Amino acid sequence: MPTALSREEWKSRTSRLIYHNKAFINGKYVDAASGETFDCISPIDGRSLTRVARCDSEDVDRAVRAARRAFDSGVWADMAPNQRKKVLLKFAELIEKHEDEFALLETLDMGKPISFSQSIDVPAVVKTVSWYGEAIDKMYDEIAPTPKDALALITREPLGVVGVVVPWNFPLLMAAWKFGPALAAGNSVIVKPAEQSPLSALRVAELAVEAGVPDGVFNVLPGFGETAGQALGMHMDVDMIAFTGSTEVGKLFMQYSGKSNLKHVSLECGGKTPNIVLSDAPDLDAVAKEAGMAIFFNSGQVCVAASRLLVQEDIHDAFIDKVKSVGRIMAPGDPLDPETMMGTMVDDTQTKRVMGYIETGKSEGAAVVLGGNRVMEESGGYYIEPTIFDGVNNDMRIAQEEIFGPVLSTITFRDPEEAVKIANDTVYGLQAILWTNDINKAHKMARALKAGTVNVNNTDGGDITVPFGGYKQSGFGRDKSLHALGKYSQLKTTYIKLS
Ligand code: NAP
Ligand code: MG
Repeated sequence: MPTALSREEWKSRTSRLIYHNKAFINGKYVDAASGETFDCISPIDGRSLTRVARCDSEDVDRAVRAARRAFDSGVWADMAPNQRKKVLLKFAELIEKHEDEFALLETLDMGKPISFSQSIDVPAVVKTVSWYGEAIDKMYDEIAPTPKDALALITREPLGVVGVVVPWNFPLLMAAWKFGPALAAGNSVIVKPAEQSPLSALRVAELAVEAGVPDGVFNVLPGFGETAGQALGMHMDVDMIAFTGSTEVGKLFMQYSGKSNLKHVSLECGGKTPNIVLSDAPDLDAVAKEAGMAIFFNSGQVCVAASRLLVQEDIHDAFIDKVKSVGRIMAPGDPLDPETMMGTMVDDTQTKRVMGYIETGKSEGAAVVLGGNRVMEESGGYYIEPTIFDGVNNDMRIAQEEIFGPVLSTITFRDPEEAVKIANDTVYGLQAILWTNDINKAHKMARALKAGTVNVNNTDGGDITVPFGGYKQSGFGRDKSLHALGKYSQLKTTYIKLS
């Protein structure tokens, strides 16, 4: 159970925190080969928490060599599955033992409310690691239905060295969705966290080793995308890149693969979730509450942020009023205060980007009916109010482009057919949400929606047991569930002729 602490207690823990700020290669914390570092800024007040090793291609080479050596030695890849399971369960247990510290690191590093780091991020990381640990000694390979004169085995083998490149919105969880199944399948892993949020991945590395993950199997390289990220993507001895981030950078990783060794690439990219509310939806007050949460949670910095609210015309006015009330409750506050529901934007750049979109929306002719301002500037941090646009047309940029901030675009529709057409009119296809009391409508619409996940009468249902990923330019390959294990393995056919 997470510890209930006051804001003052969190602040005092902050002053006692020790930051792990070096790269983690071959089981040890080391400086970047260049000796360079960069500031790790907290968006809570704009101050530097510590300076972190700035890894570059030389460090990528070092980490890949260590990861390859560990993989080829078989020390992890050939370990009996039930032994790997024990190590991963221990790893999960150690993360859980330090749950308050991880929650604090996430909050300080990227500004999400401490209550959510505690109740959502950290438990989900623990669950992910333990779930794949539990799974791995229950997976069977196959024998093919060949003619009787042969025996053909279809076996899964780990790929080798897997690069994990992740964003800052759920720093450790996005990494765990990848290193959990990648490690379970027997690979060596190199994590490149986002420059905005390297601290939790750096801390977790030593727990992996403490749990029994052999040296070289789990490495972490903090640094910038254009240098460390690109070097990993272009490396001739990396077998796969598992990426979460923007569609734009996802496309770069496809190019890196094509220009180097044709490494496998899986991409979890952006989204523009339509949240469709039909007039027969059950309990509009409850729906409005969830609709507000689904866009303002994590300050809208969520790939599945329900950023397009599609409302049937006859309930439009009443429903928008209800969502506005939810937005008012979610005013930003100090992320270290356990009562705070909405924290900061991740940094100055993201703040300016989101404010730019708010201006774009106004100039496109949409009406701001709530918020629209940057607030709490005296803190030195990056806070934006929950913002709602009404009268949005799906052609507008605020309806087409991923804003990644607390900005909701409201669009009206006449009937379910029109709702589906608007919902699908986007380059993205990560998630779609719909609310209705009519099971026939729900089924028909769920089939027609082009999205990796369709949530009916909920916004965020989907635990570790179900696959998560995108259609269209939201990417390909799935995180979570047993399906994710497949992408960290390759199939081998061994065809034996029987005499
Ligand atoms: P981003 O800019 O695409 O960065 C993602 C990762 O790629 C970071 O580690 C980044 O490093 C690295 N990177 C950036 N430029 C690179 C380059 N030229 N070459 C190699 N690597 C590079 O995304 P973000 O702004 O961190 O995160 C927001 C995005 O993530 C949104 O689009 C959101 O939808 C997406 N996201 C998707 C999911 C999903 O599951 N589908 C989940 C969460 C977030 P640096 O940060 O150090 O530059
Ligand atoms: Mg930071």
